[in-house]
Amino acid sequence: MSTAPYDDQNIFAKILRGEIPSHQVYTDADTVVFMDVMPQGPGHMLVVPRAPSRNLLDAGAEILGPLMRTVQRIARAAKRAFAADGVTVMQFNEPASGQTVFHLHFHVIPRFEGQPLEPHSGAMEKPEVLAANAEKVRQALAAEPPH
Ligand code: AMP
Repeated sequence: MSTAPYDDQNIFAKILRGEIPSHQVYTDADTVVFMDVMPQGPGHMLVVPRAPSRNLLDAGAEILGPLMRTVQRIARAAKRAFAADGVTVMQFNEPASGQTVFHLHFHVIPRFEGQPLEPHSGAMEKPEVLAANAEKVRQALAAEPPH
């Protein structure tokens, strides 16, 4: 079965264009990182390429290098920022897999021993909590330059 084409009215495209707000953590020429508003754990972030693609299945190979560099950088910063025991990285393709927003993104979630993930697209987090967590990661990034 073929997949639907990219729709530039998806919510992440609107965030990338600055049409709706987000708790932004990091940006560079290729990628944008912001807090997930329905976190599956404290510090849950989304790493999004600026280039349009629906998901990993239709993405151009040239975007993957810069995208995965940012995923790794954010995963390392998340571990430091929250003193996490580990980090989960997840990515869904098409509704059957759990994808709900159709612009490619990677979930980066700090993990703590014995603490299961909250449900996917569950409860909305308070804006002040999202803002505080975004600031923690920005500080962790500032404290350690990329390598
Ligand atoms: P997925 O199911 O992999 O497509 O993930 C989409 C994610 O986007 C979910 O974890 C949602 O909680 C999250 N989400 C939906 N709308 C927003 C938004 N406006 N800002 C930040 N995160 C969002």
